Amino acid sequence: MSDFRGLIVAVSGPSGVGKGTVLARVEELLEQANPGSVGHSISVTTRAPRGQEQDGVEYYFRTREQFEQMIKDDEIVEYDTYVDNYYGTPAEPLRKMVMKGQDVLFDITIEGSLALNRKFDVDTVTIFILPPSMEELEMRLRGRGTETEEKIQKRLTQAKEEIGRAGEFEYLVTNGDIDTAAREIVAIITAEKLKASKNIDTAKALL
Ligand code: 5GP
Repeated sequence: MSDFRGLIVAVSGPSGVGKGTVLARVEELLEQANPGSVGHSISVTTRAPRGQEQDGVEYYFRTREQFEQMIKDDEIVEYDTYVDNYYGTPAEPLRKMVMKGQDVLFDITIEGSLALNRKFDVDTVTIFILPPSMEELEMRLRGRGTETEEKIQKRLTQAKEEIGRAGEFEYLVTNGDIDTAAREIVAIITAEKLKASKNIDTAKALL
């Protein structure tokens, strides 16, 4: 495990860009290099479980009232709404993982990534994943084969709006090839950890 505090890696990008797949590969690479170095944040949501999803595994499933109470009690570090439901990050588990030196990878909304960055500053890096082209994004969205034409058009419009906000992130990674994108994200994480602002004590200790 790292000597330094862990890093919050906040990743956003349009629906269909492959965030989940890329992040799973990033985790594999980080774990290969340093077993136990990646922590998992389980979000709280008001949406209903899908399929085999279980409370406390994919998400903590809560009612709107419960979620709003958690906000009031300051138990949530960031939250956002997505398709009429709340999604948020519980504060205490995240703090513990970062203090233990674990890196925590997040696939969250744009507002979620930017809020984490405002809150934790030096401990967070924000990355936006771009598709190689809009045509490719459309193909990936259609490839899922589960959505109506109207929904696909809605997602494409939303994707354009989101890509318009890419400049609010610290890094942009294009997901043309999963392994390349994942390695680029690992490189970003490595560079962030070597920042002077995170390591100045190492230099001071030498004097
Ligand atoms: P889904 O309902 O498909 O599981 O997730 C919908 C969206 O919610 C995903 O795009 C994901 O990025 C976002 N999301 C999941 N957990 C959180 C969270 O804790 N905070 C925020 N801001 N967004 C989240």
